[in-house]
Amino acid sequence: MMKVPKVVLFLPLGLCAAIGIYQAAGVYPALGSAIVVPLSQFWDGVRTHQDGDYLYIESNGMPSHNMMVGIRSWQQQVPLPQLYQGDNAWEIPLHPKLSDHPISARTGLYRGAIAIAINGIPIFNALNNRGEDAYLAGELDKWGGHAGRADDYHYHIAPLFLQKSPDQPIAFALDGFPLFGLTEPDGSPVKKLDEFNGHFDDQGNYHYHATKTYPYINGGLRGVVHVSGGQIDPQPNAIPTRPDLPPLRGATVTGFKTTGPRSYSLEYSLNGLTHRVDYEFDEHGHYTFHFVDPNGTTRTENYTHSEPPPTDPPQNSPSPVFTGWDRQPWIKVHLKELDSNSDGTLMWTELTTAAKKAFNLDDNNGNGNLEFDEYRINNHPAAMAGYITQHAQEIDGDGDGTITKSELLTEAHHIFGKTDTNSDGKITPEEFAQLQPPHRDEANVPR
Ligand SMILES: [Zn+2]
Ligand SMILES: [Zn+2]
Repeated sequence: MMKVPKVVLFLPLGLCAAIGIYQAAGVYPALGSAIVVPLSQFWDGVRTHQDGDYLYIESNGMPSHNMMVGIRSWQQQVPLPQLYQGDNAWEIPLHPKLSDHPISARTGLYRGAIAIAINGIPIFNALNNRGEDAYLAGELDKWGGHAGRADDYHYHIAPLFLQKSPDQPIAFALDGFPLFGLTEPDGSPVKKLDEFNGHFDDQGNYHYHATKTYPYINGGLRGVVHVSGGQIDPQPNAIPTRPDLPPLRGATVTGFKTTGPRSYSLEYSLNGLTHRVDYEFDEHGHYTFHFVDPNGTTRTENYTHSEPPPTDPPQNSPSPVFTGWDRQPWIKVHLKELDSNSDGTLMWTELTTAAKKAFNLDDNNGNGNLEFDEYRINNHPAAMAGYITQHAQEIDGDGDGTITKSELLTEAHHIFGKTDTNSDGKITPEEFAQLQPPHRDEANVPR
């Protein structure tokens, strides 16, 4: 992975609106698209965090809407939670980069995801693994998804119903460029699209659009991705619980219900008769499938998964799937970069040195202040530069739109003081160990 600094915007939506980021002056296309991710827009059931290179999206692969109903060409798979967490989380490049060799999804990438929806559900190529339009083939449910060979739920067309407003992406392609809906972000009709269903906006930023006909989503990857074995790599694995099944000709999925905290019932019609698949799993990874015939005869299959399933699917709870929150305070996440002598203890002078370094890098015109155009993008590798971009509004204590060095040092003092509990000017490994993860809202939404 090349670590070339590129343009990125990572601002809370409110701030974007307040400072008119969409009207901001030009960004050269070759620098890639600006990602604007108002984290608060992510639905319950999704947990995100980021480092300098990626936005990580964790989910259990189960959307909060109903599934499966309406499938006319059914592969006999059912939705099961997936461990899209930790090392197996979705990775969205924060610095998307246009590729010299864009990859078309018309002729490849039939395996695996090419985008990730904002609710943490992957989006596969609109063409199925035989190269046919999955939607037209009747393989998709009313929400544009179905369960794959690993019983992993995913979409093949754009989940337009996820969009809360035109300026909110529905998904991110795995190259990092956002996928918007059926209008431009400002609500106007979509301008001419390229073969990948994308184009550049007036500021030179690339993005994709959903369409009601093929390719429905990004028709390939205009940005840099790595492809291996016919799919984008890396991407999270959906690990099968049971062997995959053949299509069941003539069957239509007519119902799907959550019947308990870890149990579901799928109903399908075949030759005018109703069949059911009732299935459940426990926290130890034991899965039981009951195949119920129209006359009530039941056949049962048991499987044990090497890893226990994620708990609390979002359907059953209005609260987030993940009750734990392991995001760490900024100062701890960036300790390695800030701790210049690498002794594990962060000195106040090390933080002020980092703050001044970021300030000087950002201060392009060298006038001793950071103006909006200098801090609105984070294009420096300095640890504190990203912090300035994300927290500009709070750092700018007097709210005049310009950040002075003294305002930045005041903010640094504030950050340091929260962790330096005994106020001795250093944060020891013991003090870092005592740090409590911030409250979820505080961690999730940039201040
Ligand atoms: Zn599929
Ligand atoms: Zn557009």
